Amino acid sequence: MSKNLTKREEDYSKWYNELVVKADLAENSGVRGCMVIKPYGYAIWEKMQAELDRMFKETGHSNAYFPLFVPKSMFEAEEKNAEGFAKECAIVTHYRLKNDEDKPGKLMVDPNAKLEEELIVRPTSEAIIWSTYKNWVQSYRDLPLLINQWANVVRWEMRTRLFLRTAEFLWQEGHTAHATKQEALNETVQMMNVYADFVENFMAIPVVKGVKTETERFAGADETYCIEALMQDGKALQAGTSHFLGQNFAKAFDVKFANQEGKQEHVWGTSWGVSTRLMGALVMTHSDDNGLVLPPNLAPIQVVIVPIFRSDEELENISIVVKDLMAQFRKLGVTVKFDDRTTQKPGFKFAEWELKGVPVRIAVGPKDLENKTFEVARRDTLSKEVVAAEGVASHIQALLEQIQKDLFERALDYRNTHVTEVNSFDEFKKVLEGKAGFVSAHWDGTAETEEKIKELTKATIRCIPLDRKEETGTCVFTGKPSTGRVLFAKAY
Ligand code: AMP
Repeated sequence: MSKNLTKREEDYSKWYNELVVKADLAENSGVRGCMVIKPYGYAIWEKMQAELDRMFKETGHSNAYFPLFVPKSMFEAEEKNAEGFAKECAIVTHYRLKNDEDKPGKLMVDPNAKLEEELIVRPTSEAIIWSTYKNWVQSYRDLPLLINQWANVVRWEMRTRLFLRTAEFLWQEGHTAHATKQEALNETVQMMNVYADFVENFMAIPVVKGVKTETERFAGADETYCIEALMQDGKALQAGTSHFLGQNFAKAFDVKFANQEGKQEHVWGTSWGVSTRLMGALVMTHSDDNGLVLPPNLAPIQVVIVPIFRSDEELENISIVVKDLMAQFRKLGVTVKFDDRTTQKPGFKFAEWELKGVPVRIAVGPKDLENKTFEVARRDTLSKEVVAAEGVASHIQALLEQIQKDLFERALDYRNTHVTEVNSFDEFKKVLEGKAGFVSAHWDGTAETEEKIKELTKATIRCIPLDRKEETGTCVFTGKPSTGRVLFAKAY
């Protein structure tokens, strides 16, 4: 196995692309902007899905599935949403091909098979779902509707990056309908909190919870809540969004209910989503120059056992001990792999599992059998210790929990040391020259200033943090009054 990863300090972006491919997470495909997620990468995504799905169900949601295609007129019904996504839509115009008579073996679009109404490939599913909710909601008794869908969506992104921004991506999208504004607002905040809980406690990635500015808000929403994470190169990444849709989609699709007094009212809506982008966040938060570093909660293999042997007999003796150890791990719910390949040397195996981010490696050779010990190595710190065989399984179970905590603490520490308060535009620009991270600055609240700052520095307002201090000040750019700081950053 040749690791030969580009160093992060040399070229962070190249390091990322190489690592995603070399660690077998995903690769580019023959289709522009679309990736192939490989089994190892997909196994991590499945773990994310399983935990999120559990959390959604625990908060009362059910899964359903809606069509991939949205008729154009249906898509147009909520104007802002339609306008916002227009430039990223793929459109089906024909439903049939035919043989090209001039070029044997080639196909062409059959001009007689033009669709009466064009179909949009969903970039997001509010339109199709709200057109369905119209039939599902008549009375207050039908509310709330708490639905989630696991699906793929297509956004014709011009500049794509594996996982972070692809033209087709996998995600979940929650779509809920409520009788009151307050209930819908509560749901929006609840789901932002569910995302924050998942990303922090399961992925070990600290996030800032906040609200988007009008410019960055989801098209068709009245408010967008988000969680923002900070990558190792000082760029921010939007890790999840939760939208308060007001009555916008209910009005566009005429979704009304009879309230307890029998009066007709429009329902209130929310939508929320996280995508395979989270895989990118995972890589860019924890990994190092040797490869992936996976938090134990997400690692498809938590412990790998590598035998060190010179003869078949030695391997056999080691295998007996390892089989017993594996049974202990299984009882504790720890996922373990015994890498007993005879085709590869231990050094090769060490490098391979390091590249793939397996949190704990156990090496065991004839000496260990004699001494009743194992050599235990941590992927995150690259440290090694010799541990007594007696009780090693529970020792490692505790170690996995420790690693999960340590990864979060390390990322939190990095994040906290990469938030800089600035009070002038000169300072603002200076901070952004380095591995900036978040820049906390006063802003006058206008879209014009936001746009100007973006033009000049490439930094955007990532969010208005929910926990910001009320503090009067003056906008770093215009000097106009401001009621609090917002977080700027260059972002993925
Ligand atoms: P949105 O519907 O725009 O609020 O996006 C929902 C989630 O999908 C957010 O967490 C986005 O960061 C993520 N997302 C948006 N566009 C892409 C893309 N092209 N590739 C991967 N994830 C995306």
